[in-house]
Amino acid sequence: MIDFTLSKEQEAFREYAHQVAVEEMRPVSLACDQSENVQEAFFWNMQKRLRASAALRPSREPGKARQDNLFSLLLQEEMAWGDAALAISLPGPGLAAPPILSQGTSEQQARFLSIYNDGKLHWGALALTEPGIGSDVAGMATTAALEGDEWVINGHKHYITNGERADLIVTFATIDKQLGREGIRPFVVPKGTPGLIMGRIEEKMGLRASQTVELIFENCRVPKDHLLAGREQTQKAGFKAAMGTLDATRPLVAILAVGLARAAYEAVQHWLEKELPAGYPLSKRHEIEDELAALGQEIQMARFLAWRAAWMADRRMPNSKEASMSKAYAGSLVMKATAAAVRITAPGEDGETKQFIHKWFRDAKVFDIFEGTAQIQRLIIARRMFPDIDIP
Ligand SMILES: Cc1cc2nc3c(=O)[nH]c(=O)nc-3n(C[C@H](O)[C@H](O)[C@H](O)COP(=O)(O)OP(=O)(O)OC[C@H]3O[C@@H](n4cnc5c(N)ncnc54)[C@H](O)[C@@H]3O)c2cc1C
Repeated sequence: MIDFTLSKEQEAFREYAHQVAVEEMRPVSLACDQSENVQEAFFWNMQKRLRASAALRPSREPGKARQDNLFSLLLQEEMAWGDAALAISLPGPGLAAPPILSQGTSEQQARFLSIYNDGKLHWGALALTEPGIGSDVAGMATTAALEGDEWVINGHKHYITNGERADLIVTFATIDKQLGREGIRPFVVPKGTPGLIMGRIEEKMGLRASQTVELIFENCRVPKDHLLAGREQTQKAGFKAAMGTLDATRPLVAILAVGLARAAYEAVQHWLEKELPAGYPLSKRHEIEDELAALGQEIQMARFLAWRAAWMADRRMPNSKEASMSKAYAGSLVMKATAAAVRITAPGEDGETKQFIHKWFRDAKVFDIFEGTAQIQRLIIARRMFPDIDIP
């Protein structure tokens, strides 16, 4: 039976993560939103604090399920509460980790992930999206051809988070366009590989402190053993890797949205208690309390949907439908919560609370886009719910 009561260790971990968000993230949040360079000192501090948080995670007990996904969710909700843009910019393998862990051999996992433990600042990235090819990865145009002992990658990716600073970019490319989605494979491309060219860094409306980059691959050569297809050498392996990655990361994106929605919700509570303009009508205040009560329920529901998808992932249960449900629900909730916060707090003084709320409103939109838009999540859910109906 699913029990979502947090254990003492999980509560202590969550409290520590919240403290980190309060002490390290909120104080730099508005400044980082305005200047695109995130301070290096912040990353060093965060690396230290994240290492300390990792020590609070109990090691896996023999015979018991893993808890990695659930712990990651506990951490990421607090990080996004602190600052969603900085949360997706933290040092570590990031989105490169799921395909390496799910598709790499144990030798590849050790080889590629060990750099993240050398005490220096390192990042990872995942390059799936191409201009014109986001939702439907089957049409992928980036190619990888085997020449001798090397894969030669050619193509164009865009909107890649942490792409410029990443030490490793797990890049999806097709080895045979005729195979459609089954020709897609993940390759590890290290920073500095000749032929890997950094394009423009996007100027974004929200999540401005995060880095979103265009990447060009021009005869970019990586050794043969940088193909991550060690576990399942079948034609479907590559596509499964791409989709499996998203099943692992969608609950994470959902919980980031929950953290951001909660930040907006708490800011409205604070505004109501401490910053309400003099003479504000009592009836209006009651309306807001009613709206907050409903929003509070929805935030809890979004959290449980994400926890459920992570709980299933920790037990290696197929969770595509649940991952998409959590992402679709939280992606629309965060827009609703931040828009409500902008509207409710419109009267009265312009202070720091409003500055945060306006930033969060801009940050919220992307949660409905990356890791698959809301429409795509609903398609995935429908396909899983009605397997006998051909949904294009
Ligand atoms: C800030 C940011 C960071 C990102 N980070 C990364 C990253 O690190 N790595 C990476 O690979 N990608 C990343 N992305 C890309 C992101 O995943 C894509 O933008 C997203 O998948 C949508 O793809 P698209 O932009 O090509 O839109 P499209 O796929 O062109 O979709 C456009 C619209 O059409 C709708 N649509 C498309 N197909 C259908 C359909 N079959 N049925 C109904 N509606 C449909 C979509 O819902 C959407 O509303 C990032 C994007 C952003 C904005």
